[in-house]
Amino acid sequence: MKNYMEDVVLEVLEEVLQVNPDFCRCPKCKQDVVLIALSKIKGRYASSPVGEIFARVEQSDRQVRTDALLAVMQALEQVAAYPRHDGPTKLTEK
Ligand SMILES: [Zn+2]
Repeated sequence: MKNYMEDVVLEVLEEVLQVNPDFCRCPKCKQDVVLIALSKIKGRYASSPVGEIFARVEQSDRQVRTDALLAVMQALEQVAAYPRHDGPTKLTEK
């Protein structure tokens, strides 16, 4: 289940990044978005037993993708507001 959601989130993230050219492309920020998005989705599905989640995933992949898209977009905003990449000076791009 986790791997499945991770795949969906990664896919959705690439799509979202294409329409958000300003968002930082560094691995750290991307990873943060994935982690935040996954935790949001996990919260949403937490009340269902695993079997039910699988059933739901198979029945409505589209719904899962919609959930993932929402979570990724929220996560993106969160990371964009407080990027955690340290490392060398950020290329001035705002
Ligand atoms: Zn970054």
